[in-house]
Amino acid sequence: MNLSYWEYKSWLANIDYTIVGSGIVGLTCALHLKQRFPKANILILEKGALPQGASTKNAGFACFGSMSELLSDLKSHSEEEVVELVKIRAEGLRQLRCLLGDKAINFQPFGGHELFPQQGDLYEHCLTKIEYLNSLLQPIFKDKVFSFVPNRFGFGNVKEQLGFNAFEGQIHTGNMMKALLHEVHACGISILNQIHVINYIQCCDSVKIETNAFTFSSTHLLIATNGFASELGVSEVMPARNQVLITKPIQNLKIKGTFHLEQGYYYFRNIDNRILLGGGRHLDSKGETTTELRSTPLIQKALEDLLKKTILPEVDVDIEYSWSGILGLHSQKKPILKQIDSTVFCGVGLGGMGVALGSLVGQRLAQLVD
Ligand SMILES: Cc1cc2nc3c(=O)[nH]c(=O)nc-3n(C[C@H](O)[C@H](O)[C@H](O)COP(=O)(O)OP(=O)(O)OC[C@H]3O[C@@H](n4cnc5c(N)ncnc54)[C@H](O)[C@@H]3O)c2cc1C
Repeated sequence: MNLSYWEYKSWLANIDYTIVGSGIVGLTCALHLKQRFPKANILILEKGALPQGASTKNAGFACFGSMSELLSDLKSHSEEEVVELVKIRAEGLRQLRCLLGDKAINFQPFGGHELFPQQGDLYEHCLTKIEYLNSLLQPIFKDKVFSFVPNRFGFGNVKEQLGFNAFEGQIHTGNMMKALLHEVHACGISILNQIHVINYIQCCDSVKIETNAFTFSSTHLLIATNGFASELGVSEVMPARNQVLITKPIQNLKIKGTFHLEQGYYYFRNIDNRILLGGGRHLDSKGETTTELRSTPLIQKALEDLLKKTILPEVDVDIEYSWSGILGLHSQKKPILKQIDSTVFCGVGLGGMGVALGSLVGQRLAQLVD
């Protein structure tokens, strides 16, 4: 890139902290760094015209795990690990609401529900484990988290009882990200969009950062690229695409809240008299292990079937938008927060509940630097 002296001096010289990625983690990390080091020069580099991973594509569930999802996690994680996960998700949500305010993010405490398929024994399994789960989470919420309620929404092909979680809510994802960006700009932090970080080299007292447009040096580098982290050497993280649909407005829509099915693999909610639904990556785990942002006929059809047979069996409804976003997964559900080199750090691999976790991971990433 043909950079002028002015461009170099004003945008790329004397950078103390460079953050790669302007999702929830990158933006929150920048705010915490600014709080800790008010005089520091902080630069965020983002490869998309808008943030382009998960933070602007998600479903806006302010959640910390349905009954069946937590029971499934208990098969691969210890009790302590699952309780800690729920604790950091709840704490992350508290911080997000505190930082931006419920009005700015349209937080709505409608509660969360779980639908159980007619076939199989998932419902019976949750029924036998509900007291155990509630006692496990009692120290965090000081109350019973899960209960069962009747299926008053007319969902088809599911058990008559739904799981219910009064502590779950929903937000407006776009408003949340716009509010975060507003905070970051207000602190004088620069964001450069459509800059793809390709590589970095740790030199003795700085990091040389190579992008699609220019190369420059920064004292510290913080990687907040979640599902794309393996591109910059965090090879434990695997991308997982998630596809989403939203309907046209529906007259007299009674469905209100957030809803989970099949251990969190499917999810839906109301928004602006519409239904947003997504998931289904388990139908093609291999094909969905990708960073390519597109929709596929197999999963779009499964989502449309779910909409027509289960969610709104009595209603004729059309789809208005569809999109996809990229999750960052690894062998454990706990995010990866670590120092990679003397002044290089990462906070990545947030899984499917990064709206909840993001603020806390951003804060902890900022705390990793000395
Ligand atoms: C469809 C979908 C639905 C979801 N629903 C929910 C939900 O309802 N509730 C919930 O809690 N969580 C949900 N999640 C998960 C949640 O959105 C994420 O965990 C969270 O947004 C991760 O934030 P992040 O900042 O770590 O990553 P991201 O938001 O992915 O940000 C990473 C950024 O880095 C940029 N980037 C990547 N590589 C580079 C590079 N080399 N150079 C420059 N920039 C780069 C990307 O463009 C991206 O903007 C969902 C995710 C998806 C995909």
